[in-house]
Amino acid sequence: MHPSQTVEMKLAARRGFLGRCPSCGKTPLFRAYLKQVHACLACHAEFGRIRADDAAPWLTIIVIGHIFLPLVFFLDLDRVIPFWACVAVYAVFLSLLALVLLPRAKGLFIGILWATRAPGVEAG
Ligand SMILES: [Zn+2]
Repeated sequence: MHPSQTVEMKLAARRGFLGRCPSCGKTPLFRAYLKQVHACLACHAEFGRIRADDAAPWLTIIVIGHIFLPLVFFLDLDRVIPFWACVAVYAVFLSLLALVLLPRAKGLFIGILWATRAPGVEAG
């Protein structure tokens, strides 16, 4: 039996989002910022062949876009501080937000792909 058949997709997605092994949740999913481990050291579930491709950046852009536009329109920061400072504040805040969200989005998609054994998991 494939290990993904014993783990619910929501649980695998949540564990992946948190950067943990989607199968057991005991070990880190990433060995570097966006490089997933080949296999979990605890449960030996394999993740090295899973390719999330453009899904993680796509989700990150969608989420940040939905945060950025209301923030710009409702805060109206350019009335309080100069425009150049406003651009700098938004650029730093949104860049940091993207850096935090990107590995979480990738983990989320790896968890879903692993749990569903969907296309994107290359056959070995
Ligand atoms: Zn594991």
